[in-house]
This record gives sequence, structure tokens and C-alpha cells, in this order.
Amino acid sequence: MKSRTEELDNIADQEFQLCVIGGGATGSACALDSQLRGIPTLLLEAGDFAGATSSAATKIIHGGVRYLEEAIKGADLQEYHVLVRALHERVRMLENAPHLTRRLEFLVPSYHWLDVAYLDIGLKIYDWLAGPGRISPSKFLSRDETLEHMPGLNVEGLLGSVAYADGQFDDARYNLALVQTFTAAGGSALNHASVTDFVRGANGKISGVIAKDHLTENTFTVTAGAFVNATGPLSDSIRQLATPTVHKRMRPSKGSHILLPLEVFPTEDALLIPKTEDGRVLFAVPWGGRLLVGTTDEEVSPDAELVVTKQDVEYMLRHLNQYLARPVIPSDIVAGFAGARPLVGSEDSGDTKKLARDDVIEVDPASGLISIMGGKWTTHRAMAEDTIHVVQKALGLPQTESLTRNHILHGGEGFTDDYWKKLCRAYPISEGTARHLAAKFGTASERILELTAEDPTFMQPIHAEGRAIRAEVVYAVRYEMAATIEDVLARRVGMQFYSWTDCIDAAPIVGSLMMKELQWSTAFTRDAITGYAEKIEHLLDSAGLSHKRGAFLREAAKPLLTDG
Ligand SMILES: Cc1cc2nc3c(=O)[nH]c(=O)nc-3n(C[C@H](O)[C@H](O)[C@H](O)COP(=O)(O)OP(=O)(O)OC[C@H]3O[C@@H](n4cnc5c(N)ncnc54)[C@H](O)[C@@H]3O)c2cc1C
Repeated sequence: MKSRTEELDNIADQEFQLCVIGGGATGSACALDSQLRGIPTLLLEAGDFAGATSSAATKIIHGGVRYLEEAIKGADLQEYHVLVRALHERVRMLENAPHLTRRLEFLVPSYHWLDVAYLDIGLKIYDWLAGPGRISPSKFLSRDETLEHMPGLNVEGLLGSVAYADGQFDDARYNLALVQTFTAAGGSALNHASVTDFVRGANGKISGVIAKDHLTENTFTVTAGAFVNATGPLSDSIRQLATPTVHKRMRPSKGSHILLPLEVFPTEDALLIPKTEDGRVLFAVPWGGRLLVGTTDEEVSPDAELVVTKQDVEYMLRHLNQYLARPVIPSDIVAGFAGARPLVGSEDSGDTKKLARDDVIEVDPASGLISIMGGKWTTHRAMAEDTIHVVQKALGLPQTESLTRNHILHGGEGFTDDYWKKLCRAYPISEGTARHLAAKFGTASERILELTAEDPTFMQPIHAEGRAIRAEVVYAVRYEMAATIEDVLARRVGMQFYSWTDCIDAAPIVGSLMMKELQWSTAFTRDAITGYAEKIEHLLDSAGLSHKRGAFLREAAKPLLTDG
């Protein structure tokens, strides 16, 4: 990927056939599909790639067991369609980015024989619907077998569990891999640049966008033949920017997650809590060395603040603790995140939890804007395939096949499960760092480690206890368009989803490295570190978690690496 400055210069000189607005999973997948079909494409993202919903998922590649139940009970064809499509896409998602995905076993503990029978039949149907896309068959595990997998389960009345398989992935890094693959195919992408208005031709159709670069406050105009609105929960804002009279369609729903030390519930498999008090399911999933618990479902306005609240924490712990031998308390929580599901409503839709996760493609006849709304991470590729068919039609191009079905994403080329061993042999790094690099960057890890020849201190960790090294920060800035401390710690390195307090410690080092790379002034760097620290404090406050107020600010005041 080019640097932001290079990309800005590059955009100024080019005419595009397609401009995609929104660099989450949907927009990035659309950009990739389009570019691979030979359509010169620009991707514009208001914040960071994956900075919104697409890094706030439960990180499960699934058809959705809950949707199966709804499809059967409600004889709902739409739910059935979403489910089958997702089950088939599951396999493609796993195969196209082997470094960022893995197969995962889910256990549903059972305390009544009727539940066992109900689940067993349901999951056999799940297996059957997946057909050749089946990962492995579901099965019943006895009480002892269940406890071997999950020794921390509440044993009282436990009969056993029903186990089935789905996939798991690193959502932020998957999103970045889509963008990297897109730019490697010749596409142009820019983050921290939002579309603020449209330019129209004589016929009223959109012929360009006016965008604002948030880092310089400059605005620029880009022309293109077609425009895709892939702004997720904010889709209505772009639809109404194009045609102010269109009715709103989005019904965003907030979902929160918390992260706990894996020691509170040691497991390599995921726990599915089959019934919450509001008729949903809750997951507790081992992810990146933590136990990821989620999620909630609460309808919100598109501009609502998306943070984990004290009530969200209480809700999740209340349900989780019923299944644990040793209850978890709020002070066990090490991090959390929340996002908004981009759900599309209909006239008669009630609760957001009942809205189908199907996607909708809309072509606005007045402006020509193509909006892709709704869907799930698991179906992002298929949604993009359908959207680019519509784009080709809009551009008057012949319809061609999508090339993304079997297209290996950046970092996945030549990747094997033991790739980390190769890194250990070639570089003086710990197994932990090698595994971390392999899981986040795949075969691009070697490019990161090559940077340490330039400066041996790049080999040092960014946090005393962590596995991430300083070279990752340099790589993220130079080759992944990271422009803020949060871009690095949240989405490039993943530390913000691992430990909020580690992030506090790491922020001054990350800030110092970025200062050198991006020629920030000392005052700007200190503000960046302080601003990030205040944000983490706010996250802790919102979740009702105690912390040493001002500890971040004291960290920020420490000498910068470059001072000494
Ligand atoms: C709590 C939760 C759990 C989930 N779990 C799963 C799961 O386990 N598995 C699964 O398959 N799916 C899951 N999903 C669904 C999945 O995460 C979403 O469907 C998907 O991430 C939506 O991607 P998107 O690109 O449409 O939206 P977003 O990721 O929100 O991307 C839209 C982008 O548009 C940008 N944008 C907005 N306005 C502008 C503008 N004016 N100019 C430029 N850019 C703009 C935004 O900054 C944003 O980055 C979950 C969702 C939530 C909320």
C-alpha cells in the first residue's frame, strides 16, 4: 500500500470508473472485486479501514445457529437464504486468508435431555444445509468429554454438550488484507478522508465526490463513472446526501463485547449460551489469548456513541456466570469494544434482534448512487460480487465473473500453520512474537522483520509483557496507512482488543515511532498520546471499571523515545 501522501498525489491525477465510499468489510470487498475485474477503483474511508463495525464483530465465520432456529420456526425464507449463503461463504473466507482464520469448535452445554435432542436435530440440519461447505459434523459430547474441553463449566446438572464447527477470524486484519490486496491489484485507497458532498452532471446524476482529508483539513474532488455507498450503519446519510427525499432504511443496533483473561475459563473451544433473557444467544470465545464475550443487541441512532456501558457489562456477566464454576467479576475485564450492526428495516419490522442479516442493493434512480446495505462479515465477499454486477451494468460494461471466490488475500500466499517456525529460524525472536506476527500478518511478517536491519531497536517489544515489536509500528505507518496511535494499537497490532492498560504503557513508544516516521512535532506527538490516553480512560469510565485516573496522562508526560 502507498503512503497517504503518495496516494493523495496519485488520486489527484486519476479518473476512476468506480468510487467506493466506506472502507469497512463491505466497501473493501467491493473495491477488491471491482479492481480485479479491471475497473479502476478508488476506495475512500472517513476514519480508518475497519475503524467502525468491521472491527467490532464477534469474529465468527458462521451461518448463524440462531438464524437457523428463526428460519425453521418462522418458516422464513429470507433467513434461510442468508443462512445458506453464509454457510457456503464460510469456506471461502477460511481458504482465502488462512493466516487470519481458523476452524473453531462450539460447545452448547445442556442441562435437560429435551435441549440435547432439540439442539442435536437443529445442528444436523445446519450440517446438512452446509453440504460440501460443512466444516465437520456436529456431535454429542458426554459430561466428562465436555468437562475435558471446558473444565471451568458449571457442573451442576450438566448432562453434556452438543458440539458443532464454524470458523473464527481476525476482523480488523481481514479488512486490512482486503485493502492491501485491492491496492496490490492497482486500486487506490485512502483512509481518514470522508465524502462530504456530491458533484452532479447536467442530468442530475452523480459525477464526482467532494472529500475532506481529516489529517490536513483539505478538500478534494474526485470524478468517477459509478459510486457505491458502503457506509454500513451510516448508509442513510450518504443516500440522503445524494437524494435528500429518500426514506431512511437503516435500523442500527449496538452490540458490545468484553475481553477477559483466558485463565478465568480455560478453553480452546467456544461456549455458546443458547438462550439469553431477551431470546438471543451469547458467545464466550477464545480469541487472541483472551476470552471474548458477546454480544448485546440494542437499537441505537446512527450517531450514537458506541462504547461498552456498565449495563452491557452487567448483562454479559449475568448470563456468562450461570455457566461458569467460578463467577467472573467486572474487575476481571481487560478490554472491550462495541459496534453497530448495519441492519436494514422493513415497514413491519419490530425488534432489531428479529431483523434478518440479509443485504439489500439499491440503485437510486435520481442520482445513480448504488447502496449496499446490511449483511454480515461472513457474506461480505458474496455481497461485493452482487454489487459489482450492478456496477458493471451501471457503467454499461459487459457482466464478467467475480474473481474473488478463490483469491488468496495479502499475507495468505504460501502460508502454512507452522510458518511461525520459519520466522524463529530466520530471526532472533521468541516463539510468542513469531506466532503473533504470523497470526496478524501472515507471510508479510518477513517484510516487518526485514525492517529490523535498518534499526535493531525495531526488534524491541512495544510493551514489556507483549509480543508485538516496534517494527510493526513502522510497517503499519509505511505500508498500511496507519495515521493515528489508535490505528496502530487497535487495528494493526490488535493490542486495544487485548488490554487497555497495556495500551496505556505502549502509547508513548508508539507515538514516538510515529513521530519519526510521519515527521510529527513534539507538541503534536504529546497531544496524540494524551488524546489516545483520554480515550482509553473514557472507555474504562463508560464500562464502569475503576482505574488510576490520570495514569495515562502521566505516561504521556514521560520522555519520548526521540528525546533521549
Ligand atoms: C456486535 C456485532 C457483532 C458481529 N458479529 C459478527 C460475526 O461474528 N460474524 C459476522 O459474520 N458478522 C458479524 N457482525 C456483522 C459485521 O460486523 C457487519 O455486517 C460488517 O462489519 C459491516 O461492514 P460494513 O463495511 O458494511 O460497515 P462498517 O464496518 O461500519 O464500514 C462502513 C464504513 O463507512 C465509513 N463511512 C461512513 N461515512 C462515510 C463517508 N461519508 N465517507 C467515507 N466513509 C464513510 C465508516 O467510517 C465505516 O468505516 C457483527 C456486527 C456487530 C455490530
